[in-house]
Amino acid sequence: MEVGLKKILVVLGTRPEAIKLAPVILQLKKIQGFDVEVVSTGQHTNLVNTMLDLFSVQADMVFNTLEVAKTLPQVVSNVLKDAEVVIERTQPDLVIVQGDTASAFAFALAAFYNQIEVAHVEAGLRSYNKLSPFPEELNRVYIAQIAKYHFAPTEVSKKNLLKEGIEEDNIFVVGNTSIDALRLILGDERFNAKNVQNLTSSKKQILLTQHRRENFSRHENGVFKAVAQIAHEYGSNIEIIFPMHPNPVVREASKSYFENLSNIKLIEPLDYQDFSNLMASSYLIVTDSGGVQEEAPSLNVPALITRDTTERTEIVSLGAAKLVGVEEKAVFNAITNLLDDEKSYESMRHKQNPYGDGHSSLRISNVLVDKLQFRNA
Ligand code: UDP
Repeated sequence: MEVGLKKILVVLGTRPEAIKLAPVILQLKKIQGFDVEVVSTGQHTNLVNTMLDLFSVQADMVFNTLEVAKTLPQVVSNVLKDAEVVIERTQPDLVIVQGDTASAFAFALAAFYNQIEVAHVEAGLRSYNKLSPFPEELNRVYIAQIAKYHFAPTEVSKKNLLKEGIEEDNIFVVGNTSIDALRLILGDERFNAKNVQNLTSSKKQILLTQHRRENFSRHENGVFKAVAQIAHEYGSNIEIIFPMHPNPVVREASKSYFENLSNIKLIEPLDYQDFSNLMASSYLIVTDSGGVQEEAPSLNVPALITRDTTERTEIVSLGAAKLVGVEEKAVFNAITNLLDDEKSYESMRHKQNPYGDGHSSLRISNVLVDKLQFRNA
């Protein structure tokens, strides 16, 4: 490695990590003094590769031990071991992790044990409920304790970090890089993706995404029951599209509830560009996904959040989304309200996205140039 070059490892393993870190990787690669390598922990290898391809980013290293990891302790211990080997071999100056997955936590821990600095992208999100989202809430609390640089999307997340004793000088409010990804990917092609054209119609289109493990273990399928009931009552006036998450529990449950309903389309996960176009062409989004909650206001589509808690409180305070829980009746009522009451529907639109302007990666890169590049080797 050239003398003075700073080696940065960027760690990702799941679809949202790939989407949210791709713009950061592209930005950091523009810096001459940085040698950036991408490590994929192998949590969702296929989905991650599809997402990275869209941004013309490649993983330099891919772990294969998660293919056999069945439990969270196995994920953490396998990533910890693999990370140690990579850190030993590459001797990075900085490790960047994003969000709150078990593999991000494990890699950050391995970096800490090797006294390597960690930067945390999307720092400070908190639900203050250890079991929701599980296990992400504690993963991100632990990552915050390990990290040196904290890239918080909003002032709310900065405050959360300050409450936990994180030094203010190391917290940078930069927005969320999910909006950078959206800006990069939609470009001029908005509404033109070929796969989406086959799906969209003049009917009111509801986009459904569900994958949170705590919703499936505790509440069974209150959300699916409500959506099936909506499909039944509104018939050909609406169309519901459900790109299924790869999680087998979710797939099986959705098939059992939606099988005989012709106005519900169960489809495979879409690549990010098609999915973004599908979001943009939807009347309403019903989701338990973190990333989708952030993206919806940029596309001017109201979102109903099917979770008990959300760490994206900004969007609820703003009125662009509603937290509706996971009980059948509550979900059903919230959807019918937005289908039938134009005033309620319109009151949730035309809001400025609280998660940023799509330039978060540049801010992150500027901070890192300041902190790393001009530091002596
Ligand atoms: N997404 C996608 N294709 C799909 C479903 C979701 O590209 O079929 C994107 C979505 O736009 C968002 C991210 O994946 O950026 C969210 O991922 P997920 O819901 O798996 O995770 P979470 O955000 O809840 O961590």
